[in-house]
Parts: sequence; structure tokens; C-alpha cells
Amino acid sequence: MKNFSVEQFLKELEVLVNIDSGLGANEGTNEVGMLLSRQLTERGWLLERHTVSDKCGDCFVLKNREAEHYDVLMIGHIDTVFPAGEALRRPFTRDEKRAYGVGVLDMKQGCLGMVWSLNALPTEVLEKLNIVVIFNPDEEIGSLYSRELSDSYARISDYALVYEAASDCVTRCIQRKGMIRYAVDFIGKAGHAGYAFENGGINAVNEMAYWICELAKYHCEETGTTVNAGVARGGQAANIIPDHAELVLDVRYEKISEMEKILAALDELAEHAKAKGVGLQEKFRRATPPMEPSEKTYALCELAKAITEDMGYTFKLKKRGGLSDANHLSACGCATLDALGPTGDFDHSEDEYLELSTIQPNLEFTCRLLTKLAEKK
Ligand SMILES: [Zn+2]
Repeated sequence: MKNFSVEQFLKELEVLVNIDSGLGANEGTNEVGMLLSRQLTERGWLLERHTVSDKCGDCFVLKNREAEHYDVLMIGHIDTVFPAGEALRRPFTRDEKRAYGVGVLDMKQGCLGMVWSLNALPTEVLEKLNIVVIFNPDEEIGSLYSRELSDSYARISDYALVYEAASDCVTRCIQRKGMIRYAVDFIGKAGHAGYAFENGGINAVNEMAYWICELAKYHCEETGTTVNAGVARGGQAANIIPDHAELVLDVRYEKISEMEKILAALDELAEHAKAKGVGLQEKFRRATPPMEPSEKTYALCELAKAITEDMGYTFKLKKRGGLSDANHLSACGCATLDALGPTGDFDHSEDEYLELSTIQPNLEFTCRLLTKLAEKK
């Protein structure tokens, strides 16, 4: 990358990091979105600003031209996991090797890196590729409100590039587990424990326990599926038949077929509860598909590998257990590469940092990748 100045990058990053854009900081999220967008609109990119909910900031969509089909979708989230006020309490700092601050790694660096990489691209690359850039405001709450919009672009894009931080310097990700979050209340009928056969008591805790045991059968190292009964509560006293129990599940899986199995199991368990006379109050059910690599993804990986080795690094991939926008975008059918931002560690904590030496190589990688994709066209 020509004329790369880490100092200038950090100066711009400092501004972004010092603006709160977490929960309850919609204005700050919008300010971050505008600052990033402006760098592209000044160069002729088209900006669409979508209000997706009043519970988060706006979603910023930028295109180098209007098109019915995009070669590349690039995405980064401008929200952080921290509450409003955190940036004031813990502003951006840096030393020789690292930068610190709220969302410095997750993922304001990735968003800024996207902009910098695009601005460093030769005109002929931008002429050849139709690119759509999305800064979404709600990834840390599961992209609840922006998902539909970004998926609509993923369905008309060949490649999706996601700028979560790399692990190591340039270790990428093509595989993330999917997740089911499920919360349900069991409604039984209270009664004296000594007269259970006569008083019509229905034990809500027993039904919950049955569910936990049945679902645990899917917890399997071989398939990579984990079933975690994270919250299981119920009952009041030993001699009372409990009329209420509460279960919250977190299930993760590598394959969409596993997701479908678990969803079917939940439906079967609901039938079981009904047969036992236990009422159910489903409070939350959300299933996110896994990021599962396709043939197209492996072909993109080959290209990424060649570029990485050409730059003098070893290409590595790492599976991740946490979700990102790559989960739902890849399920739309585009070849998806994640962990394209510079690296660091300890995101979602006060110790979060960005490794300064990894900024330039990662920006360079994106430039080279987009150039190759343009050449291939
Ligand atoms: Zn995060």
C-alpha cells in the first residue's frame, strides 16, 4: 500500500473510538457511521442511510455504483458491546505496540480499515468491481434489525468480506458455529407433594428436566454441537409440586442439518409437554445458521492463500464458536471470508487492544484481494 501512515490511521481511529456507539448511544453510532461514510462519499460513493429500529443507530449502505448485482459486499459493525458513557470513562490510548479503547478492536479498526483499503485501490479496480459496503449498527445484539437489509445485498453478491479482527496477524475464518437461543417457561399445577396421585398436580420441573436430558443427547464432540442449559429454575419447597419452571438454552452447531435437528427436537418436546398437561410459554426463539464453507468459499480461500503467501505470511484458518454477520451472509449463498481486520485480543473486555503492526498488512491484503477479484472478472 502506497503512502500508508499508521499515525494518520490511528488519529482517525482515535476519533471513532472516543465516540460511544454501544447500547443506548444511537446518536454516537450514527456519528461514527457518518464519519466513515464521508470518506467514501467524498470520492463519489453513493450513500443510503436506513433507519432499521429506534433501538440502535442507522445502517449505512455505500455503493460505488447502483447495480443489480454486486461482486463484493464488505461489512463492518459500528456498534460496540459497551454501554453509553464508556468512551468518556476509558478513552483511546496507545503505546508503541498497541492501541486501547472502546471497540478499538471490535471493530472500529475493521470499519476504518475497509475505508482505507477502498481509498487505496487503483481506479481501474473500482471500475471493474461493483462493491457494496455496509456499516451495520446492531451486530452486538445479533444484527436483529439490520440483518434483513444486509441479507438482501448478500443474495445479489458473489463475495462477502467481513472485517472482524483476524486471529494472529492474518488468520482468517470461513467457519463459525451457528446458535439457537431459546427461552421457555413451563406451567404445571401446584399441589401437596404427598398426594401427587390424587390432587392432579403437574410437575413443571420434571418436564423441564426431561427436556434437558433429551436435548443433552445432541451435545456431541464429534459433530461439534454443544447444548448448554444456561438457566434452569423452578420450584419453591420440597413438599410443593412445582407449577413453574424456566429454561434458557444456548445451542451451537457447525452444520445447518444440526440446527434443523434441534429445532425439530424442540417441536417434539413441545408435544411431549402437551401430552403431560404442561403448558409452555415460549419467550424467545432465535436460530442463526452456521457459517458453513461452500465450494465457492474454498475457491476464495485459495486466492486468499496465494495472496497471503505472496506477502510473506503463512495462510491459516481458524474455526470460531462466536457469531458474526458472516453467519447469516454466508447462508445467503455468497462465498464469505471473515476475520479480515487487523488483529489484537480481549474484545468485549476492558483489556481489548489492537496490535499496531498488523494494520498495514491487513489493509494491504484487502487491496490485493480486491485487485485479484477484479482481474478474474
Ligand atoms: Zn463483538
